[in-house]
Amino acid sequence: MLAKIIDGKKIAKEMRIKLKADAEVFFQKHNRKPGLAVVLVGDNSASKVYVGNKIAGCEEVGIKSSAFYLPEDIIQKKLEELIDTLNLDKTIDGILIQLPLPKHIDEREVLAKLDSKKDVDGFSVNNAGSLFLGEECLVACTPAGCIELIKSTGIKMDGLHAVVIGRSNIVGKPMAMLLLQENCTVTVCHSRTKNLAEITKQADILVAAIGKKEFVNGDMIKPNAIVIDVGINRYEGKLYGDVNFEEASKVASRITPVPGGVGPMTITMLLANTLKAANG
Ligand code: NDP
Repeated sequence: MLAKIIDGKKIAKEMRIKLKADAEVFFQKHNRKPGLAVVLVGDNSASKVYVGNKIAGCEEVGIKSSAFYLPEDIIQKKLEELIDTLNLDKTIDGILIQLPLPKHIDEREVLAKLDSKKDVDGFSVNNAGSLFLGEECLVACTPAGCIELIKSTGIKMDGLHAVVIGRSNIVGKPMAMLLLQENCTVTVCHSRTKNLAEITKQADILVAAIGKKEFVNGDMIKPNAIVIDVGINRYEGKLYGDVNFEEASKVASRITPVPGGVGPMTITMLLANTLKAANG
């Protein structure tokens, strides 16, 4: 039997209806919309598309977005001054610095400047540390979205073996922490992992965040596993995940498609984080 599709688009749409209602409640209470500042440095065309989608998401749910488009050659000090200003602005609840930043900018320093209560991407040391400690915090949007997708299946995560392929700070590591919080037994794999397929074949939940087109094939998947494909790989004008969807859907019980799986959830979780930050 073919795996059931976890429809990220549908789940994201349902979440946005609720977020819109929450934003309206905030507006009634504070006489202003929740505010998100989006900072984009330079001319990266992919980043521009991402920023455009985030701004459209804000409009959809009633969050006021303010976009700051800065020149590629901006000096670190100027960028940090803008962050200081946004940190102090009471109408700005969330600040998003679109990554990557140009090479001459110290990304870590910039993120360190962010007020962690406004760090809606959850990338700051404070938020990453709080997640590690299992404390309440703003969680990185993509892994937070993956957890929502797994929860949407109704399958209890407690005690399941979750395998995450990828250990990046923005996806793999926070994903592992969130799965641990759900009482999964978690294994994190990466490019140096030996006998990868033997490990992935033990996964009740398999999360692929690698960045390699259709890397995970059907033989790497345990029958009836839940497969979450984070990958976005552009090839000859088409989008592919990190999982070979056709093969995987013959083995797994649930699977996210690419596009239409994790992607739509990422921006939705950003909107959710902005509301969370606004409500303190
Ligand atoms: P990174 O490049 O930062 O990390 C990739 C990870 O995959 C690394 O930990 C790397 O291991 C591991 N890896 C690479 N090759 C192998 C291999 N052969 N076997 C096992 N592990 C391997 O990527 P990101 O985490 O930023 O993103 C991963 C994917 O998710 C990308 O396709 C990206 O586009 C997508 N993405 C999608 C989002 C969405 O909204 N849907 C949001 C963010 C990312 P090592 O650490 O050893 O190098």
